[in-house]
Amino acid sequence: MKQYKVNDVIIECTTGDIAAQTDMDAVVNAANAQLRMGGGVAGALHRTAGPGLEAECRALAPIAPGEAVISGAHNLPNQYVIHCLGPVYGVDKPSDRLLASCYRNALLLADKNRVTSIAFPAISTGAFGYPLEPATRIAVNTVLEMTESLAAVKCIRFVLFSKKDLNIYESLLDQLTSADR
Ligand code: ADP
Repeated sequence: MKQYKVNDVIIECTTGDIAAQTDMDAVVNAANAQLRMGGGVAGALHRTAGPGLEAECRALAPIAPGEAVISGAHNLPNQYVIHCLGPVYGVDKPSDRLLASCYRNALLLADKNRVTSIAFPAISTGAFGYPLEPATRIAVNTVLEMTESLAAVKCIRFVLFSKKDLNIYESLLDQLTSADR
């Protein structure tokens, strides 16, 4: 797995399943407003977590685009799930700012809860239709900015579904950081 070190925070990217990140304190859900099961990332996380996750989330819903909330992880191999509602591309506007807010709010919430490691999927780039390249620029730039102010979070992992998506993340991170290969 390729790693980058920025302001004492390790940034990693890999292909894989967000529901199988056994070495991360927290995983981020590309949630829907009602924090229900759904498809894609939310489906994978809720399936593995079991019905307790949906039950806990009932009291936290609904959430607005750009917002993040935290819950337990139930049967997932993590301590927390941080649920973010990404913007529906071209519908929830300004989509770029709302997407950046997801990453920023998730990291602020993680840091507040003393999470040391957190894995993100590519929020909004599935059912919500955000094109991967601009979404990647927002994800990576927001995470890089946030490394300056994080106290607890020491490792941030991007979990991509395909090798093609991974290549887009890696080439941007190569450009913006000095890669430690
Ligand atoms: P959204 O509704 O925010 O667009 P989706 O869950 O539909 O969220 O998709 C977000 C991204 O996550 C897409 O790029 C999709 O390919 C990817 N993805 C889907 N399932 C998984 C999974 N189990 N682990 C990691 N990434 C996933």
